[in-house]
Amino acid sequence: MRIIVTGAGGRMGRNLVRAIADEGLELAGATERPGSGLLGRDAGELAGIDTLDTPIVEDLRQCPQADVLIDFTLPDSSLAHARFVAATGMRMVVGTTGFTASQLHEFKSILAGNAVVMAANFSIGVNLALGLIRRAAEVLDESYDAEVTEAHHKAKVDAPSGTALAMGRSVAEGRGVDFNEQAVYARHGHTGARESGNIGFSVIRAGDIVGEHTAMFAAAGERLEIRHVATDRMTFASGAVRAAKWLEHQPPGFHDMRDVLGVQ
Ligand code: NAD
Repeated sequence: MRIIVTGAGGRMGRNLVRAIADEGLELAGATERPGSGLLGRDAGELAGIDTLDTPIVEDLRQCPQADVLIDFTLPDSSLAHARFVAATGMRMVVGTTGFTASQLHEFKSILAGNAVVMAANFSIGVNLALGLIRRAAEVLDESYDAEVTEAHHKAKVDAPSGTALAMGRSVAEGRGVDFNEQAVYARHGHTGARESGNIGFSVIRAGDIVGEHTAMFAAAGERLEIRHVATDRMTFASGAVRAAKWLEHQPPGFHDMRDVLGVQ
């Protein structure tokens, strides 16, 4: 299997290059944003492994043909990369977060004819947690206050994280309520008392935290917390490469990591 990594100089990009090499797969190409100081560097060396003879280029059209494109960049560039994937008939694994609703709609319509895995989180633990949260929310009704807290490194540009939102959606699914009507993203000043049924979000941005998420169900006298801590980005990168391999046998359509892992 031949794979292209976009954003290969980023935090995730470098881990993806390592994960592809660890799996014995072939890195067909690697890109970075136009003007990046990393253009021309070897993607393998940049990832801290042996040279792969794959220089980082700024235009996907400069990359040799490949089977799958793995993209962890920014919503605007993921949209541009999706257009390339649609035009070439490749498959795509996308981990970028922070899409607006209209960007997401556009992304899905561009890739309507391609096989895609898109997930806010590619770790096995988080995808298992999403199922546990939905199950907990089926049992713990609105007398239990649902709150999602998350912490990430200070360079993260979107909030709450895509994973925190996925956890909130799992609560809403379990309760059979409309997520958008229940989500509360900010509390400041005189907020009044908490409304029963709300799904609250709290965000920390600090230092080099890789990613920590907790879904809490709190009632009078008890509290259940489902918590996940990522300590190394390789957990996401290995999951994304696993998704790329899984896609080889899939027809066109959108899938998430729970489909790849077979945990619903
Ligand atoms: P990062 O800023 O370290 O890396 C992104 C890279 O993309 C940068 O090197 C940037 O220069 C490059 N880039 C930007 N525009 C580009 C373009 N047009 N063409 C090619 N490259 C371009 O960020 P990161 O921490 O690696 O995270 C990237 C994204 O992945 C974020 O949205 C983050 O939330 C998400 N993420 C998802 C998961 C998951 O499991 N789904 C895990 C970690 C991060």
